[in-house]
Amino acid sequence: MTSTIVDWHSHRDDDGILWLVLDKKGTDTNVLSVSVLQQLDALLDEVDASPPKAVIFRSGKKRGFIAGADVKEFLDVTTTQEALIMIKRGQTLFSRIESLPCPTIALIEGFCMGGGTELALACDYRIALDDASTRIGLPEVKLGIHPAYGGVVRSTAIINPLQSLEMMLSGRNLTPRAASKMGLVDSAQPQRQIERAARQVALSPPAKQSMPLLGRVLSLPGIRNGLAQFMKKQVAKKAPRQHYPAPYAILDVWANYYGNRKRMMEEEANSVARLIQGSKVRSLVRVFLLQTRLKGLGDKKAFTPRHVHVIGAGTMGGDIAAWCALRGFNVTLQDREAKYLGNAFKRAHKLFGKRLKTPAERNAALDRLVPDVAGDGVPRADVIIEAIFEDIEAKHAIFRDVEPRMKAGAVLATNTSSIPLETLATALEEPERLVGVHFFNPVAMMPLVEVVRTESSSEETVQQAVAFTQHIGKLPLPVKSSPGFLVNRILMPYLVEAFTLYDEGVAPEAIDKAATDFGMPMGPVELADTVGLDICQSVAQNLSQAFAIDVPTGLQKIVGSGKLGKKSGHGFYEYRKGKPVKDRDADPGDQKMIQNRLVYRFLNEAAACLQEKIVADQDLLDAGIIFGTGFAPFRGGPMNYSLHQGIETIREAMTDYAARYGARFEPVEGWSRVVEQSGTD
Ligand code: NAD
Repeated sequence: MTSTIVDWHSHRDDDGILWLVLDKKGTDTNVLSVSVLQQLDALLDEVDASPPKAVIFRSGKKRGFIAGADVKEFLDVTTTQEALIMIKRGQTLFSRIESLPCPTIALIEGFCMGGGTELALACDYRIALDDASTRIGLPEVKLGIHPAYGGVVRSTAIINPLQSLEMMLSGRNLTPRAASKMGLVDSAQPQRQIERAARQVALSPPAKQSMPLLGRVLSLPGIRNGLAQFMKKQVAKKAPRQHYPAPYAILDVWANYYGNRKRMMEEEANSVARLIQGSKVRSLVRVFLLQTRLKGLGDKKAFTPRHVHVIGAGTMGGDIAAWCALRGFNVTLQDREAKYLGNAFKRAHKLFGKRLKTPAERNAALDRLVPDVAGDGVPRADVIIEAIFEDIEAKHAIFRDVEPRMKAGAVLATNTSSIPLETLATALEEPERLVGVHFFNPVAMMPLVEVVRTESSSEETVQQAVAFTQHIGKLPLPVKSSPGFLVNRILMPYLVEAFTLYDEGVAPEAIDKAATDFGMPMGPVELADTVGLDICQSVAQNLSQAFAIDVPTGLQKIVGSGKLGKKSGHGFYEYRKGKPVKDRDADPGDQKMIQNRLVYRFLNEAAACLQEKIVADQDLLDAGIIFGTGFAPFRGGPMNYSLHQGIETIREAMTDYAARYGARFEPVEGWSRVVEQSGTD
């Protein structure tokens, strides 16, 4: 294989160490594309021809070692055979690294994921930078596959399988210290020492990492199979096999072939070649690319806020304030009186305890969050977020007070769910300064923030709000001001259909099962209970004024009887220790019909939003729905799913349902827009 070397730099230093530095051209992030691997193969020819004292792999990027494979290349793979060729090429290359006659070291600074970690595992030693930006992991399951370049074989050969498998099954990434503790890296070093440490290992290599005794015992054949079965049961609680086969495949490769390295390598390749084939991987890659697109919106450098002022310390305001403080912002939190702030600070305390490791970090975050009943933070704030209760007059009063005190260039944002921004803006001298930043509950868990623009919002303000959202580590979704914006608007008909089914006598368990079988993370009935039935009712009533939605009487009765869902211990379900009590023997009813009714309402509303240009395009719609509602990621979003099923098929089925169950299933005009944009059908 010959290749022009453009992405790697290599040099031998005075000690005879060969430094192979990856600095992929034209991008900020190193990925292992086919071309990058071909170039490395050519470089290894030179290493073979004249072996150095040692080889050290390093990144030439300011931040990040290697982010993984080039996922876009997965989309070009159309047959199992093609997948196998690609995988085997990578395996062969990494085996070449493994069998070089000199010590090999991966010097990991910054993000090291997937193929990057597999390359590091093929080296004799791994040294990681001990800083906040370095993370190491094998997150392939998130794309519906698993490590294929020997990652399963090599990680389970040196790390206690409980830990290596857990890392691969969850796809979670590790801090350098955690990685060092489990033996994934040999050591974690501060910046000032890392190069010296790598040199030392290169020149006088210590013993290589090997499997601890407990790991060896757990890998014995009888124990291994039992452990794999146990782990499969654990996985099944979160990721059903029919939708997420990858974690099960990891366990199969390990349980069936551990101990026979050559065979295990082959099966690792075969297994991924099989997985990569299906539409699930394509959809999950699509989700990954959509996430990358959202992360790339706006210009973080053009707006660098430091101070956030939040007004309203309730469920949302309190948690938004805590989240911003967690992310390093100075935050002032205002409410009517000091007594309304207590709960927010308690929750902030809990959040910092969970997310921050050291007491010093936790104290620093608490110091950044300042109670501010008088609203003294307003003139200093770069971003002001109003999150008081849904009352137009009260919000107007806040705006009248705040606007004259805001500094030039500051953003005024509202978190309102249901009051039209245009109505709120009437209280402002400069309505162009108002934008919506619609967070979801619970703030710390939900990755999406809808950035809502009105006809009068200035482009600059919208861009600043998008940049702010990026700075706090959330995904911005620009949406047009319209009732329910995108996410609640689409979610509501689906929830209402669930309530209608309930009114018809279908068991909540049957409704939820149909939805989770489709791939929703939680059924609509349990979701409504979790959000709070009073909130659902108020959003549904609000939206019913704008759109033809009938709020079923069953919901009103339940709310009327004081059952508000999980928070009151009763809703559609009864709650014990925060968990719904479900009747295992509940009549499942006609599952296909239930599922179709739920899904068609969802899809039809999505098409209506497209028609009304609530978001700019289909991809943004899918992104918003996946990250805002958890819509079955392996289906790639409602539009991707519809295209996959065939728009005409969906339209026909909906027309049939309209005849049987009511006009709400009549396909909306927007479907022709889906066809238009995709160019299919
Ligand atoms: P909440 O009732 O939990 O909290 C509202 C807070 O505002 C209270 O602490 C109250 O004391 C305070 N407040 C009221 N008037 C005030 C004033 N004049 N000055 C200062 N503070 C004042 O409400 P919430 O659920 O947090 O909702 C807040 C906003 O967020 C609403 O606009 C709502 O539509 C929106 N929202 C709510 C959710 C949700 O799930 N709860 C989700 C997204 C958006």
